[in-house]
Order: sequence, then structure tokens, then C-alpha cells
Amino acid sequence: MTETKRRQGQIKADGTKATPKPVCPKCGEITVRVSFRGDKNRGRAYIPTGWMCPSSTCDYIIKDYVELKDDEENVDNVKDFAEACCDQKSLKELKAALAGAADETDMKTWNITEDQWRKAMKVAIIAIENSLSVDEAIKCSS
Ligand SMILES: [Zn+2]
Repeated sequence: MTETKRRQGQIKADGTKATPKPVCPKCGEITVRVSFRGDKNRGRAYIPTGWMCPSSTCDYIIKDYVELKDDEENVDNVKDFAEACCDQKSLKELKAALAGAADETDMKTWNITEDQWRKAMKVAIIAIENSLSVDEAIKCSS
């Protein structure tokens, strides 16, 4: 695979799977997408960074998303693997797996590195914990 693809946001090819917005675990408000002003040279003024509680008396923010580089090799494999983890494994299983060694079979099956395996696991955990889609749990940078 030599071609580098640009990813355009989070619209799924099949248009399905509308994920509900995450709810603030502290006060129950529906969180809002937060962005910071980014580098205009990259063609986008705002870069999404996470979700924030809109309540003025609450400071909850969901961040620490897993960062994947847009041009990282096999980035689609990492996402696909993370999706598969969300579908097939429980939060408990994922956390247990992440605490141990990377799974050789997974790495071979999905053609990803150990580092990418760990990232995919983290993405899946964040996605499940916050009711996010895999794309929303990934902070893409280039
Ligand atoms: Zn809140």
C-alpha cells in the first residue's frame, strides 16, 4: 500500500450508525463538540479535540482521544480493527487485553504494528466508554 489517502471527516460510506452524543457523567447534560483554532495552512480552521459539558457549573470534558496520523501507514486497518473490537469484545475484555502483551494473531490478521494494536484497543475503549463511534474516538492529525 503506497497510496496516501486523505480522510474527510466522519461521514460513513454507508451513511449508517448515527451515534448518540455522549452525556456528561457528572450532571447528565448532553455534551458538545469542542474544537480549537487550528492551522489554516492545513485547510481547516478548527480541529475537533473532544466533547465538553455545556453546563456553567460543571467542568467535565472528554479528551485524551487517541491520536492517529492521517498519513500513518495502514490507518484504515487500525480503525477497522478498533471497530471489530467494539463489536466483538466487552469493555472488560478490552482492558484486560490492553494490560497484557499485544496479540500476535491480531497484528498479523490486521497487518498492524504493536503500537497500532495498542492504539486501536484504546480507541475501542474510549468509544465504548463514551458512546462514541470509532471515528469520533480518534483525533486525526496530519
Ligand atoms: Zn456536566
